[in-house]
Amino acid sequence: MSFQEFSLLEFVVHGAQRMGYREPTPIQKQAIPTILQGSDLIASAQTGTGKTAAFSLPLLSLLSAAQGFPRALILEPTRELALQVKEALDDFSFFSSLQAAVLYGGVGYGAQREKLQEGVDILVATPGRLLDLLEQGETTLEKIEILVLDEVDRMLDMGFLPDVRRLVAQCPKKRQTLLFSATIPDEIEHLSSWCMTQPKKIDIGERRSASESVKHAFYPVAMAQKLELLQTLLKRTDFQSVLIFCRTKDGADRITHQLLHGKHTVSVLHSNRSQQERIDALEGFRSGRYEVLVATDIAARGIDIAGVSHVINYDVPQHPEDYVHRIGRTGRAAALGDALTIMTVEDLPQVRAIEAFIGAKVPRLKLEDFSYLYTTLFNEEAAEQLLKNVRGARTLKGYSYGAKRKR
Ligand code: AMP
Repeated sequence: MSFQEFSLLEFVVHGAQRMGYREPTPIQKQAIPTILQGSDLIASAQTGTGKTAAFSLPLLSLLSAAQGFPRALILEPTRELALQVKEALDDFSFFSSLQAAVLYGGVGYGAQREKLQEGVDILVATPGRLLDLLEQGETTLEKIEILVLDEVDRMLDMGFLPDVRRLVAQCPKKRQTLLFSATIPDEIEHLSSWCMTQPKKIDIGERRSASESVKHAFYPVAMAQKLELLQTLLKRTDFQSVLIFCRTKDGADRITHQLLHGKHTVSVLHSNRSQQERIDALEGFRSGRYEVLVATDIAARGIDIAGVSHVINYDVPQHPEDYVHRIGRTGRAAALGDALTIMTVEDLPQVRAIEAFIGAKVPRLKLEDFSYLYTTLFNEEAAEQLLKNVRGARTLKGYSYGAKRKR
């Protein structure tokens, strides 16, 4: 099947072809005709499967030609995603006069105001900055015809719900609403009923499955040896580019600092860094200037970085769906990737939750010639007992699991 077989306007088909797209992906096959028919839509598909084009191509076709005021609004949870989607729209609309503006916080208002004043057809925005600009009278949602909530589970999860509601309330009631995400938990479907009218549903593949082209494994280790194991993994892995996920910003900074002593080029991405630093980290990683990018979950969702050969979870993600998002950063476009997760005994409950979520047992791997403090974690029953002991011992003031083992 080719893009010509949809009833997309010609400039859109050419835009997709210019990007080298020959055949629509499964989500595109289903979503494009549904959106062109004007239906509301709730779509879930694995990350990296072409969701952006799945909504962007029909959206551009429906808007058809520039009119100079916002008729489509795409809400994104992070600045990076907003930028990425805006760039994709610019590419797809190369052969048209349609204009998109990207609006996000952390940078000055000047350039965004100027762009709005020039007249735009599509807004790609994070909720906070858009609300500010609306309050200042810099733009309006009165003529919005198509509303896209991208990465909707995360958007609602990150506490954006009140902002999203305020924004939706400013859009006309008669509009088309599209919900996209890699994972759409049931409660999101329930929650979103207030902003949709008889939505069609598209669910590509296993709703909860991890990307099929990724080989993944857990590496159990004592808390005190996490960094040592990470450094050994980096030394022994033949990688082109590695994305390392940490739970906290401080943790990400600490690891970056440690890795800077090694032979790799490293950068760090989290929300305490300035927008310029975030752009530099991401672009430097994309271009290969940095081989290693250490990040908090801000980078886990939807960011498209070609050629990430490995993802390492330095910390096990708190939410099972974040695991799917994080490891979705590798193995994109069916290239084989590796996702390695470092786990300690205290992570056992989360590890089990992840396995239940993806419906598969993830292999535990042991590094040859690594001097493990102990190997109890490789035996599930013994590990369970250890976890009980650790929890009991927690009541002792100043207890640190790794430190205790060393004494
Ligand atoms: P996304 O899921 O939107 O982040 O897209 C993942 C990657 O797949 C991006 O690099 C897209 O440019 C690419 N892509 C999307 N659709 C197609 C297609 N039909 N053919 C080839 N590549 C595609």
